[in-house]
Amino acid sequence: MNLEQVMDQLKTQERFAKNITCWKVIPEKHGEYEDFPEYLNPKLVSALKKKGIYRLYSHQRKALDEVTAKNNITVVTPTASGKSLCYNLPVLNDLLADKNSRAIYLFPTKALSQDQVSELMNLVNVMGENIKTFTYDGDTPVNARVAIRKDGHIVVTNPDMLHTGILPHHTKWMKLFSNLKYVVIDEIHMYRGIFGSHTANVLRRLKRICRFYGSDPIFICCSATIANPRELAEKITETPMVLIDHNGAPSGEKNIIFYNPPVVNRQLGIRRSSLLEAKTLALTFLKNKIQTIIFARSRLAVEVLLTYLRDEMKSIPGGMNLVKGYRGGYLPKERREIEKGLRDGEIFGVVSTNALELGVDIGNLDASIITGYPGSVASTWQQTGRAGRRNSLSASILVASSSPLDQFIINHPEYFFEASPEHGLINPNNLYILVSHIKCAAFELPFADGETFGKENIYEILDFLEGERILRHVGGRWHWMAESFPAEEVSLRSASAENFVIIDITKDAKVIGEVDQSSAPMMIHEEAIYIHAGQQYQVEKLDYEEKKAYVRKVDADYYTDANLAVEIKVLDVFREKTVDNGQNYVGEVMVTSLATMFKKIKFFTHENLGFGHIHLPPEEMHTTAYWLSIPENIKELSREEMESGLLGLCNVMVNIAPLYLMCDPKDIRGVVQIKSPFTQKPTIYIYDNFPGGVGFSEKLYNMEDQLLKAARQVIMECNCEDGCPSCVGPYDEVGFGSKKFALKIIKGVLSD
Ligand SMILES: [Zn+2]
Repeated sequence: MNLEQVMDQLKTQERFAKNITCWKVIPEKHGEYEDFPEYLNPKLVSALKKKGIYRLYSHQRKALDEVTAKNNITVVTPTASGKSLCYNLPVLNDLLADKNSRAIYLFPTKALSQDQVSELMNLVNVMGENIKTFTYDGDTPVNARVAIRKDGHIVVTNPDMLHTGILPHHTKWMKLFSNLKYVVIDEIHMYRGIFGSHTANVLRRLKRICRFYGSDPIFICCSATIANPRELAEKITETPMVLIDHNGAPSGEKNIIFYNPPVVNRQLGIRRSSLLEAKTLALTFLKNKIQTIIFARSRLAVEVLLTYLRDEMKSIPGGMNLVKGYRGGYLPKERREIEKGLRDGEIFGVVSTNALELGVDIGNLDASIITGYPGSVASTWQQTGRAGRRNSLSASILVASSSPLDQFIINHPEYFFEASPEHGLINPNNLYILVSHIKCAAFELPFADGETFGKENIYEILDFLEGERILRHVGGRWHWMAESFPAEEVSLRSASAENFVIIDITKDAKVIGEVDQSSAPMMIHEEAIYIHAGQQYQVEKLDYEEKKAYVRKVDADYYTDANLAVEIKVLDVFREKTVDNGQNYVGEVMVTSLATMFKKIKFFTHENLGFGHIHLPPEEMHTTAYWLSIPENIKELSREEMESGLLGLCNVMVNIAPLYLMCDPKDIRGVVQIKSPFTQKPTIYIYDNFPGGVGFSEKLYNMEDQLLKAARQVIMECNCEDGCPSCVGPYDEVGFGSKKFALKIIKGVLSD
């Protein structure tokens, strides 16, 4: 069967059709084209023609015109719309006229830069011009670095390298900074939260150094669809932007299908697992040789789904190798092979985390299956965008999990299709981030009296740093006087830069992958089943100090899933107010998380086979939180009933808050205390899941009782009898009766 026939089958077979809550057809769209402008260098025109490009998409032409007119631009482009020409054309056109010009290309990760660089180099080679493009990152050999500093016309790097490897050594890069005309920032929507806040400060430092050497570069930013691309770009670069968001590229007809797995236990409100449903749907495509990408929300889910699919594909000759897994933690070489296999059509199916949602080039596939709502409107569109060719049919299926957010979306498809995607939020003036970069900036060039950092007046911070004996104020300037090298101590990513390596000791010891610091306690504690590329390993020993996990191949019929215990302590209250009968606060907290135990869960049946303990040190984080304290003796709830109700209510609030905050569910977390040491009352905390916070708690505080009212609506609208995973949460987490108790608590707080 071809894709059209498979879709007909989904539509007509009752087994599938009855679970479909929405089937949206986005019609085919024709391309909008413009001719090459007359000012475009003939060498560039003939190179494009050699590559089969005879005219430009309208958005590419607009980008070229605006940059040539010296405007900063933000281009919003879906996948496969030829975005790299939006920056390569104006930059190359200028370089052909003036070989002294320089450009910096910033990509959020190394992997994302590779495809763009090879495309750029290819264009330069076709022209046969001496324009040197170099990648400058941690892997660049020392002996190549001198040549790059001197001769590189286009330096491709990432914000981390700019921060530690380039800006602090600006004197060696004089030629680049004196002639810097363009800064390209691709995938700017990824610069959110802590990472975006850091990058904004790195760019403040970059602009400061450019001013010192007398240059004033134009910023060219590219973004996927988010609610506020221009605002985000303007905040990160502190520069006014022209927005180009009308896409001229053609696209084929697209089918977006919402699929809700059937209820299998009505009393407990349990639906068939979204993983198992996704497996069935994926097999329908894969067995018909339709190239399909299957997204799952966690690395564990990727491996479990991959195991299931391979098991079913065994019956087809060579079938096992037609489906691959793809996620963070696979080694780069392994990932490159999978990307190539997908482009060449040798691999039919790939199961991936959101790692493949981004600009990695895997060509365009026919179908995508999204296992569980990815958490944001923007991510969902990016994942559906992985399926779709310029002139043929494509299909994307969203399979809902039982979580309240998934159930809300799958049952209110109009919300999804009409909603604005999320805002990219950053807070460059987060004090903890700002101070770090002022130190780095002072190391690079002394601050003069009255000088601002970006638009910030920083006298107080400079004065504080002098008190700490880090700066010295002489002759109207603030000089660096500490011994250390400040940039080394500042990581731009919220997670620690250091990863744990995983070493397979089945035969000869060899490294098979990596896990980041914050996931290590959950994924590679001792006795954990670590699944890599569908093969199971058991962790024999975790050397926490050395950051090494030693694993051995096993053939287990279960996987492991760890529990995280979270404690919270109030450090400072910024503001508080009474709303109805509840007391609302926003302030600073310390969150301590500790992996305590793990469950063994049987493949396919998902039955619980037992548990074990985890012995690892806790992780601490300072952040901002919103909290709500509740009158103590609501309707005479017993202590157990109060706890069950609080847990259920907290689950609902944390699950639906992203709809109002327009954030990713991972950005916030909730905790409850039956008797808070701070408020002395039952209390629900929701905190920003980033050190220092980025502003979500503040927004929650300002929502008054809107979130509580929304939680009440979700709980009351749910069809279950006594609470279920789609409202208050599963009974083994929140206890029986949680639905009733949560509603009583809400009634006790709200006065309407
Ligand atoms: Zn329910």
